[in-house]
Amino acid sequence: MEGWLRRRAGNRRMSPKDGLDYIVCQEVVDFTIQVLCDYGRRRPAAEGVVYWAGRLQGKVWQICAAVAPAVQASRYGFQTGYSTNARFVSFLCDNNLQYIAQVHSHPGSYVDHSPVDDQETAFRREGLLSIVVPNFGSRGILPWKQCGVHLFTNNCFRRITDKHLRKHFCVVDAIEDEILIKNFRNE
Ligand SMILES: [Zn+2]
Repeated sequence: MEGWLRRRAGNRRMSPKDGLDYIVCQEVVDFTIQVLCDYGRRRPAAEGVVYWAGRLQGKVWQICAAVAPAVQASRYGFQTGYSTNARFVSFLCDNNLQYIAQVHSHPGSYVDHSPVDDQETAFRREGLLSIVVPNFGSRGILPWKQCGVHLFTNNCFRRITDKHLRKHFCVVDAIEDEILIKNFRNE
């Protein structure tokens, strides 16, 4: 019973009260979809993952970097390894960036977190976003409401409401920061 109540609370959507906005560069979105679709076109098709990073300017996260880590991917999920994640951490330090979101694909329209997503997402910490993109990324990321955008807060992931996504998340053609795109998949 207790577990059931906890699960229900975890499933309820939330509207963060942190006052943060997220601006994602179009190049970051384009690269992410390219990578996710690439995994989706494999036979058998596989889930893929891309990490997003950026900088906090006031109360606005500017997401200007995307990294595709090396993964072991299948239709049922993916695993990132220690060395590719270590490489990603070096990349963040070298470029004075912070890790903001993990973006991964699901096969169909289901974009809630699976128990595996809850437990095995790397670098879980307060404020991390986990964005689940449907249909192996074949329909892009926008509108945001087709994706499941989950915030790690109070030690669990909670899915953000569509209304909050509409108000606080956007994609822009260009922001002043240089755009950093890295592909670690073959390393
Ligand atoms: Zn998943």
